[in-house]
Amino acid sequence: MVNLDALLEARNRHISQALSIAHGTPLHIARGEMQYLHASDGTRYLDLVNNVSHVGHCHPHVVEAGQRQMAVLNTNSRYVYPGLTEYLSRLASTLPDALSIGFMVNSGSEANELAVRLARSHSGNHDMAVIEGAYHGHTGMLIDLSPYKFRGPGGKGEPEPWVHVLPIPDSYRRPDSEFNDEVRAGMSEAGPVAGLLIESMLSCAGQVPLPDGYLEEAASAVRDVGGLLIADEVQVGFGRVGSHMWAFQESDVVPDVVVMGKPIGNGHPMAAVFTTPEIASSFGGMEFFSTFGGNPVSCAIGMAVMDVIEGDRLMERASELGGRFRHGLESLGESHELIGDVRGRGLFLGIEMVRDRVTLEPAPKEASAVVDSMRERGVLLSTDGPLHNVIKIKPPMVLNEEDVDETLSKLDLCLSED
Ligand code: PMP
Repeated sequence: MVNLDALLEARNRHISQALSIAHGTPLHIARGEMQYLHASDGTRYLDLVNNVSHVGHCHPHVVEAGQRQMAVLNTNSRYVYPGLTEYLSRLASTLPDALSIGFMVNSGSEANELAVRLARSHSGNHDMAVIEGAYHGHTGMLIDLSPYKFRGPGGKGEPEPWVHVLPIPDSYRRPDSEFNDEVRAGMSEAGPVAGLLIESMLSCAGQVPLPDGYLEEAASAVRDVGGLLIADEVQVGFGRVGSHMWAFQESDVVPDVVVMGKPIGNGHPMAAVFTTPEIASSFGGMEFFSTFGGNPVSCAIGMAVMDVIEGDRLMERASELGGRFRHGLESLGESHELIGDVRGRGLFLGIEMVRDRVTLEPAPKEASAVVDSMRERGVLLSTDGPLHNVIKIKPPMVLNEEDVDETLSKLDLCLSED
């Protein structure tokens, strides 16, 4: 067995301190298996955090597809091969007809960069609007478009002049009636923008589903000032919300651009941007090329991920299991005052912890303590949100009823501690 201290020492020698380690005390994970991670000391953890391993860690169908294609051909998308066109048409078939043109890249950040470039070329505008608390990627431009980063540790605090930040439409902390006026006013104050980059359900901002009618109003408001609606589905796409393949489909809105990432390759680095033919043509002749984007191996892997989502009815499972989870969490809320709010859809859930249900005083330390204590009991969770008091649940979609029930009874124990 590799010694953990030696691994950490090597890590400190070669890896920047800017990259922190997940889950407090470092975990040496040796193997992944569907919804479980096995540590080198033999402990098995239920992974409720990893929304990348969407169809399960090391899913055999995905592994086999990647291995097979690697042994046959891997080249770039300037050549013609059926894998790319078949894959793009499979993704397009899950989207509204208008969004027929897909670009393949290698990460969510690259995909959001491309989406913003498309919005700028198409609209002729430069400014962008985003939602408070959002994270959209690690490139220079996306750090400027991620309040989660520029307002967080090491950030410069205030947005760039070309970035307009709209408040979080958080129904737990504010009345729903404020949000539509707010997004309308925010966009008209911003003036001409290239677009609004928004998650169809907010993740880093605290696992917040958009209130009914909000995305419709946001789409109309951004289009009124000449911009595009860009739906960032990197965290919430591919059936996770249970009712639809894409979280924006919970609304009546057809976004101008849809960004896909994380689960798309079940851990293989890939991402995609879909838009309309008109918007896709707005680069005005400039070439688009990504060396690795859409290579045959990525396409084979992406195709295998779609096979599992559809073949194993994972979207329906997300709805069933998410309902079971939610219901159980709500029941826990009846006996544990710390649970202020349970929200989300499908297998994208948030538990907001508060010290007082009237003042809604956030309970970040308590939320972290619950996460630590769950880890001791073999369940991996994490916290997020602007007040650091929301426990996130976004597991591989292959978890089962037993995992849900065990998690609920462990949470009951953790919440009863102290
Ligand atoms: N958008 C969202 C909503 C994300 O959560 C992330 C990653 N956490 C990204 C974009 C960036 O994706 P990547 O890390 O693959 O570049």
